[in-house]
Amino acid sequence: MNRGFGFKQKIIRFMQGRYGVDQLSSFMIWCAVMLALIGMFVQSPIFTILCWVLIIFGYVRILSKNTTRRYTENQKFLDKTFGIRNAFAKVKYRVKYGKQTPEAYYIYKCKKCGQRIRIPKGKGKILITCPKCKYQFKKNSK
Ligand SMILES: [Zn+2]
Repeated sequence: MNRGFGFKQKIIRFMQGRYGVDQLSSFMIWCAVMLALIGMFVQSPIFTILCWVLIIFGYVRILSKNTTRRYTENQKFLDKTFGIRNAFAKVKYRVKYGKQTPEAYYIYKCKKCGQRIRIPKGKGKILITCPKCKYQFKKNSK
């Protein structure tokens, strides 16, 4: 009856003082899965080898007791991948909240040229200048 609990305790005890999962390790494991998938289609042992190398190194990091060093590695990884992670985060955000974003804006159409103008909500009564034809009109952006 207590077997599950005991096993969990064993894992917790085993993981004590060990570094655990961080972004770099999860990235390595994720890459390994990708390589394994590619390896299913491409008949080349290199993918399988790389996959195992990544899994082994990933788990060596996770189970490592040198937490300071692992932390530094992860920070370096985060620094170097900031640009790309940021880009991914933006795409992710757009996928998740894309439909909600326009709610923060009113889309007005210029009466003269039909240009669509995005005005943030909560601006009150404002004079809008069309960026295309410079036509001005008043709107209430509540
Ligand atoms: Zn216009």
